[in-house]
Order: sequence, then structure tokens, then C-alpha cells
Amino acid sequence: MFKWFQRLFFTKKGSVPLGVELSYSKVKSYLECPWLYRTLYVEMKRRAPTAPSSLGLSIHRALEAYHADNSGTLDRLLECYNDHWVHVGFSSPQEQMIYFEKGRKMLEQYWNMDQSRKTKIVFVEKEFIFPLDPFVVRGIIDRVDLNPEGQYEVIDYKTQQELLSEEELSRDLQLGLYGMALKQAFQLSPSFLSLFFLAHGKVVSIPYNPSGESSLREKLLEVGLKISREEFPPRTSHCVRCEFRQTCQYSTERG
Ligand code: SF4
Repeated sequence: MFKWFQRLFFTKKGSVPLGVELSYSKVKSYLECPWLYRTLYVEMKRRAPTAPSSLGLSIHRALEAYHADNSGTLDRLLECYNDHWVHVGFSSPQEQMIYFEKGRKMLEQYWNMDQSRKTKIVFVEKEFIFPLDPFVVRGIIDRVDLNPEGQYEVIDYKTQQELLSEEELSRDLQLGLYGMALKQAFQLSPSFLSLFFLAHGKVVSIPYNPSGESSLREKLLEVGLKISREEFPPRTSHCVRCEFRQTCQYSTERG
């Protein structure tokens, strides 16, 4: 591991970019708007917490704690949820109660869904890092399961309302990246990529297709190179959905 790490951070200036670290969140924000990437990761401006982001964080933390002690009961899961509830980002106590209740229902559905699964959990909230010369890619995979046939399944939890189809899943940057990470960082071959839609108690899965790796690699390298060259043009078609639209100098959606 040391060789690529050394090459990444100590390559002579001018030959390759120095120290660019990629992650799903960084690549996503760059693709949405390069100036947004700059705002978040160069200027280091923080996103304000929102009700949905706090709910998502609470659910992820609760599931991590629940799976860590292997008790397996619904009461324990809900206890973890209580303990890890994130109180910020809500406009009123009433809104907080509504979101808390939404999350509780999601976890009940998750628990019921999980009881019928025949798989064994291999990783939960597993941090990964792997080289993508001359960059490094890092992140955290929500969960990896192993089924009785010896096949690995990469899982990501979603708290959003909208469901994705299998077709949309096959183009999902995050799951593709996590499938690649399982291979590159842990030398395990994924057979399935899955999203757990917690608001619906539903799992959508697709078989892992290694033929998509080369285009994913190209996309990551292209974004990494642009970041290292400090190419941050605003992409104003994203302004309407951007949390910095009120303050950004390039925003077209201040109203
Ligand atoms: S407001 Fe528009 S231009 Fe500014 S960072 Fe957001 S998306 Fe980019």
C-alpha cells in the first residue's frame, strides 16, 4: 500500500496532481456544478443541516450501532435510534416529531424486511480506500452481505421517498463506485448491488456488471484531473436545487 500512497503525495510537481482524494460525494457535487465542489471542498463552506439530512444521519447511526452488538431485536434497534437521534435542522418541535416518527416507521420496516433475509452481514459502515492512479478514492459502504451461495451484495440505505428502477440503479454512480471499492479495497467480488428504500421497506437489486468499471474509472479520472487543474466553472442548470443559491455569486435562482 505504501508505494501508491507515496506516489500520490510525493510525485514531483507538474507531472501528476498532488494529493487529490476522490469520494462519491465529491464527484457527485463536481458533476452537479464544479463551482459547488469548490464551495464545499475548497472554500470549506458547510451545508446547513436539514430535516431530511438529520433523519438520514440518525438512521445510519442507529443501524450502525444496532448491527454492532448483534442483539437483533426491534426494541434494541429503536433504542439505538433514540440514542442516535440528531436534533438539528428542524424548523419546529412539531416538524422534529413528524420526522422522528417517519424514521421509527422506516426502522420497523427495515427490521421486518431484515428478518426474512437469508444473508449474513459481512460489513456495516465499512470505510474503504483504494488507489486510482494518480488519485485515491475513499468512502464508507453502508453494508455488505454474503448469501448462502457465497455471493456478495453491496447495500446502500436510502431514506428518500422516490424509488429507483433497476435501470436507474444500473447507472447509479454511488453503487457502482462501492462495487468497485469492494474489489479494489477488500479483494471481494460483488455479485449484486442493492438499495434498501427504507421509506418503502423495499429492496431493489441488480447483478453487478464489471463491464461498467472502465467507464466509471474514466469518469473518476476525468473529474479528478479537472479538480487538480482547478477547473471550477459554474453550472447554473443546477442552481434551482443548490443549497447555496441565495449566496453564490453565480446563482441564477436567488428569488
Ligand atoms: S448556486 Fe448555482 S452556480 Fe452557485 S454553486 Fe450552486 S449550482 Fe453552482
